[in-house]
Amino acid sequence: MLDLSKFRMITDVKSKGNKLILEINKNYITELEIPYENVEIEGSIIKVNDHPRKAKNIEMGILNLISYSIATNLRSKITKRRVIYISEPTPLIGHTAFGLIERGRNIIQVRGHCGCNLNCIFCSVDEGEYSKTRKNDYYVDLDHLIKEYKKLAEYKGRVKLEAHLDGQGEPSLYYPLVDLVQELSSINKDGIVTMQSNGVPLTYKLIDELEEAGLHRINLSINALDEKMAKMLAGRKDYKIEKILDIAEYIKNSKIHLLVAPLLLPNINDEEFKKVIDYTVELDQRIKQNVINPLTNKRDPILGCQLCKIYQLGRKPKKMKVWDFEKFYSLLRTYELEYKKKGIDVKLVLSPKDFGTHRRKRLPYVFKVGEVIKVKPILDGRVYGEVLAIERDRIIQIINCKNEDKLLNREVKVKILRNKDNIYVAEPI
Ligand code: SF4
Repeated sequence: MLDLSKFRMITDVKSKGNKLILEINKNYITELEIPYENVEIEGSIIKVNDHPRKAKNIEMGILNLISYSIATNLRSKITKRRVIYISEPTPLIGHTAFGLIERGRNIIQVRGHCGCNLNCIFCSVDEGEYSKTRKNDYYVDLDHLIKEYKKLAEYKGRVKLEAHLDGQGEPSLYYPLVDLVQELSSINKDGIVTMQSNGVPLTYKLIDELEEAGLHRINLSINALDEKMAKMLAGRKDYKIEKILDIAEYIKNSKIHLLVAPLLLPNINDEEFKKVIDYTVELDQRIKQNVINPLTNKRDPILGCQLCKIYQLGRKPKKMKVWDFEKFYSLLRTYELEYKKKGIDVKLVLSPKDFGTHRRKRLPYVFKVGEVIKVKPILDGRVYGEVLAIERDRIIQIINCKNEDKLLNREVKVKILRNKDNIYVAEPI
């Protein structure tokens, strides 16, 4: 007898005749046919009615079919895209869509998955169900992610580190998120674990659990208070700003520091952007949090204002005006002065020091820009025209490919175009 509920990654089991429909880590689905007779499926239990020795072989066969189905036929319930399950021995350094990123600071960006529940009209990575450029999502196995994080943390020095959950999608959709935060917290003993979120998947229960697991801060995106404007910016009619504000208040009453991160889209949400700042200041006066960041021995800032920029593979809102940072910071300074006149001290122009960010040992670069190497792409890419190869313990994104399928598992000569921060981009030559 096989009990599929014993496998942590299988979070739900359904069946239709001989077809098994497995929910993997809450957000993914794989379907497979069980080609054996004498098999009964009831809930998560699979019974093989045969001689015990033969039954054992059939059970092994079913488990192999499940593994194969997860490896080749996993889909996201959220984005509807194909999902590539990343496990050992695939390296986790080299790509921006999944794994780990270190940029010579005491921060390690942790990207356990990609894929987003929203479709923001300004999304710099063209995420969400209606993406025009993304063809695959990735999910990194928890044990693999933790093991590789630990190695990287040891390399960088395990003092005063920040593990920052962000990425091409909504970080809180990672499952099991609480286990991930707990493990990272226990590695970063005198450091912190922080997370970005659009707030939609957050619930009171999840916040309680994340608080217990040691999450230090949530950077919550709020870009408008007006319901219509908020829905328009999120690209979803079912986006409910009142739910996000309620969650903001709940976080504010917890031991997780709340940082509200409004994004200015000049000529689109100028007024709403200011209203979000006012809202956050008022909330902070009403509910004073006193969560101390051990990297600075101070409270973190309550606002992390951002300016919308245009990216090559991102979305550009039609009416948006492009501003430079000088203009943006000057606007923020004006707001700071306005508050000061009212006797309120609010810091809007921030520097890495405000969060305890400082320089830290970098991983060595393993390829030079311009270097020509032979690689064998083994994984399909994140966007159209891209495949992934593994070489010298790094992932390499090979872009500008024609007929990606034909390149997989064949030797290709490529030239390295980028190596900054150990993110490797190459193209075939
Ligand atoms: S929440 Fe972030 S990742 Fe998701 S669509 Fe909006 S901008 Fe993109």
